[in-house]
Amino acid sequence: MIKKLLVANRGEIAVRIVRACAEMGIESVAVYTDADRHALHVKKASEAYNLGPDPVGGYLNAHRITSVALGAGCDAVHPGYGFLSENPELAEICIRRGLIFVGPSPHVIRQMGDKTLARAAAIAAGLPVVPGSDGNVANLDEAIAAAKTIGYPVMLKATSGGGGRGIRRCDSEGELRRHYDRVVSETTKAFGAAEVFLEKCIVNPRHIEVQILGDRFGNVVHLFERDCSIQRRHQKLLEIAPSPQLTEEERAEVCDLAVRAAKAVGYENAGTVEFLFDQQKRFYFMEMNTRLQVEHTVTEQITGVDIVQEQILIAAGNPLSYAQDDIQRRGYALQFRINAEDPKNDFLPNFGRITRYYSPGGPGVRTDAAIYTGYEFPPYYDSMCAKLTIWALTWDKALARARRALLDMGVSGVKTTIPYHLEILRTAEFRIGRFNTAFVEEHPELSNYSVRRPTSHLAAAIAAAIAAHHGL
Ligand code: ADP
Ligand code: ADP
Ligand code: MG
Repeated sequence: MIKKLLVANRGEIAVRIVRACAEMGIESVAVYTDADRHALHVKKASEAYNLGPDPVGGYLNAHRITSVALGAGCDAVHPGYGFLSENPELAEICIRRGLIFVGPSPHVIRQMGDKTLARAAAIAAGLPVVPGSDGNVANLDEAIAAAKTIGYPVMLKATSGGGGRGIRRCDSEGELRRHYDRVVSETTKAFGAAEVFLEKCIVNPRHIEVQILGDRFGNVVHLFERDCSIQRRHQKLLEIAPSPQLTEEERAEVCDLAVRAAKAVGYENAGTVEFLFDQQKRFYFMEMNTRLQVEHTVTEQITGVDIVQEQILIAAGNPLSYAQDDIQRRGYALQFRINAEDPKNDFLPNFGRITRYYSPGGPGVRTDAAIYTGYEFPPYYDSMCAKLTIWALTWDKALARARRALLDMGVSGVKTTIPYHLEILRTAEFRIGRFNTAFVEEHPELSNYSVRRPTSHLAAAIAAAIAAHHGL
């Protein structure tokens, strides 16, 4: 069994992994850059080691991180999400240096981290994929030729893309010509590789993804699906499990497809198979994420499975703790990404000092946060600073609970996405559970909320008390 684990990450996910370790009796080791000296994961882990002054590079230095792990007497490394999580080299270095990497094999990370190789693997496994170019396109001429065969609109996509970046819809050859060079250069900058490919653009699809777990004995189970259709610029804003817009038959179909894909590539550990679900109710394999996902919390809330603990057990060589029949789901869960962004100003990140933080509670409310009162945001990292996850037995109850908890949550000092989430909850489409990836774009008015200040809250309460006193 693993006795001591290094968490090669920061923010809420590092805290999440430290919590899993604490419950399993595993010592946790945090690493941090100078900018993260006061970060929560540093305070929560059993031990913490400094990675030096480079705020981002520090977390990307696999050699240094594995040296810290060995020096601290760790036997395992958990990469979280982002940073090195989908970098096959970290997995390789861990193996070479005698450390357990909490994730799939370097071979599978490499294969599934490359979207065209992943498409090929999905096709080989008999999964439906979005019609697209046969592998990468080498230049604009090849892209134009491929787009002619596929038919417009097309999506120009970075082969090693992630986090919603490096994706561009092109409605015509003119647009493809206009965007091509820029996408390639952005892709090179963001992902260090220039490869791009084309897919048919599925108009107004739903994003449905399936959480899977696999062990080294070839067992694979699914933990049902998540609906991540509420996105802004291809980035998820909130996630739901199970999807309120699938029938039981559709659910069984997509979960089966995911298990089939995972089995075909010999997948070990936790992973997510992402699909697009079109207006004709067909599923298409889109990509596979070979890591823990931001939105794993909603799956945990409906199944009761602690995915991070399962990851650690699997990495230690244990068979899965669950057979498929052991995995039951109950109710609905929603996860709201609380980002330090100003929804009124094009979601511009606004880093600053958290002058007050109040974490909501009560039945069915879970927070995964990396902030505290007095916390100063380093400007170098992701603006997501907390996740609010709601669970309730029915969709309607989950909506009511979500509103209550979002109103209850207090983050002062920086603007956040909390008021925007409250606006989403008010829309008719969301309330009846009918929405697709165009939702945010089709609702520009959601940014026009008026912020209720705590003082007006107080004034309203006083007015109500006076009215009650006077029997009005
Ligand atoms: P999820 O797929 O878990 O919902 P996101 O797409 O929001 O996660 O990505 C989680 C984090 O990982 C973000 O900080 C994102 O920028 C980063 N990320 C995801 N994929 C990549 C990638 N291929 N390269 C670099 N960063 C990535
Ligand atoms: P990332 O690696 O950044 O997560 P994905 O390939 O998962 O990139 O795509 C992110 C999002 O972009 C999807 O959830 C979907 O909304 C949109 N998207 C990607 N490919 C297509 C497509 N072929 N047609 C329509 N939408 C797409
Ligand atoms: Mg994706």
